[in-house]
Amino acid sequence: MTATGAQTTTRPAPAERRSALPSVDAVLKNDHLRGALENHGRTVMVAAVRTVLAEMRVAASPPGDTSPSAIAIAATAHADAHDRPSQRSVLNLTGTVLHTNLGRAILAESAREASLAAMRDATNLEFDLVSGQRGERDDHVHGLLCELTGAEDAIAVNNNAAAVILVLNTLAMGKEVVVSRGELVEIGGAFRMPDIMARAGARLREIGTTNRTHLRDYKEAIGPDTAALMKVHTSNFLVQGFTTSVTHKDAATVAHAAGLPFIDDLGSGALVDLARYGLASERTVAAALSDGADLVTFSGDKILGGPQAGLVVGHRDIVRRLAKNPLKRAVRLDRMRLAALEATLRLYRDPDRLAERLPTLRLLTRQHDDIRRQAEDLRAPLAQALGAEWVVSTVDCQSETGSGALPLATIRSAGLALAPRGVKSPGRALDELSARFRALPRPILGRISQDRLILDLRCLERSDDLLAAIAPLQTDPRKGAPA
Ligand SMILES: *Cc1c(COP(=O)(O)O)cnc(C)c1O
Repeated sequence: MTATGAQTTTRPAPAERRSALPSVDAVLKNDHLRGALENHGRTVMVAAVRTVLAEMRVAASPPGDTSPSAIAIAATAHADAHDRPSQRSVLNLTGTVLHTNLGRAILAESAREASLAAMRDATNLEFDLVSGQRGERDDHVHGLLCELTGAEDAIAVNNNAAAVILVLNTLAMGKEVVVSRGELVEIGGAFRMPDIMARAGARLREIGTTNRTHLRDYKEAIGPDTAALMKVHTSNFLVQGFTTSVTHKDAATVAHAAGLPFIDDLGSGALVDLARYGLASERTVAAALSDGADLVTFSGDKILGGPQAGLVVGHRDIVRRLAKNPLKRAVRLDRMRLAALEATLRLYRDPDRLAERLPTLRLLTRQHDDIRRQAEDLRAPLAQALGAEWVVSTVDCQSETGSGALPLATIRSAGLALAPRGVKSPGRALDELSARFRALPRPILGRISQDRLILDLRCLERSDDLLAAIAPLQTDPRKGAPA
């Protein structure tokens, strides 16, 4: 049979390839699969072996080694790759301290410990240990929030967006809320004040123009349908030039003269005057209250430096109405976050040590000299890891607070600038290097600016973290060669 003999030198027909593959059982019994079975369990490994076999069956080119051990090794790699957590720790070298896409504030040690303890054990979340009766979950942060802001009453919810919805729904369902057009902000794409207001069931009564709103605009807008006056902190932009806006005090006075509540959505709620730590001043929650706000809403994970949360502080009778709204249940905090929030707030009782203990403040107040020295120390190891194709230099740069806090106030910082050696238009090489950094076991996130990849070291408290993160680059055969 000369014809058949000739065929053996060509590619086998698909049917023959299929029969050449081992059975799932044979692979599962292979010694190379033992560790993976232990790690991932039988269900996952059976699926992984099936996937690898199926890929080999349909592959356009003939599979190389189809032995049970080769397939066991491939299945293990497949299962390992799928076992990596989706949410992982990254190095935030973007220069934005409170980066919304990177989870905003990192938590203080005491907050992490409190949260972990609450995870591990049952707690008195809604249980009054003195009376033995049912308690309120907000009791755990109520006292601290009142003490730190001077408010009569306080509640905590899922985030500031939820706080605003709860406030508007409670005070203004089916009624009007007066807001200056210049304050109808959009924050991070999904939070648009007009949309939030509509969802809360309140009607927006816009007054003034983008750049000018006068006291008489507020007065004239008040009618029988008005439920409240509101001011919104224009967190992420400044309107400059020919502008007029009404002070919080004056808006509060107009509201109160008409017997209406005045709401101040502060966004990033500073609990202490940041000028004390050498940072640009941000209006504090206490100042908002003393300017006449009946309710102040702010975030837990912006400048406050705690877990994601929305806080509402203000007059007792109004805050009690919020607490009774059935929506409150839908936006309440869980015990882990409440524990972290309580521990974070507790740090504010000792403002002298706050800048050491609260990571957000510690990072924002890191001195330029210190960061610059760190950049000088890390320059050579990074250059070594990237290889000769990359020029690594120390640079001065500007960090920002982020999350709408302290808009436009940048902070002098330092870092490392990476540029491909001798490449005229380095755009593609920089994109590829960024992608490689993102693909590391601990991804490194910088920012591309002026034909360089900038790694702002403000948020790198431990240099070892960067050294460990770049270690896998050394074994990478591509060594960072620009394409
Ligand atoms: C950030 C912000 C919000 C939304 O707060 P989240 O905690 O992100 O829900 C609402 N209002 C203002 C003014 C803000 O700055």
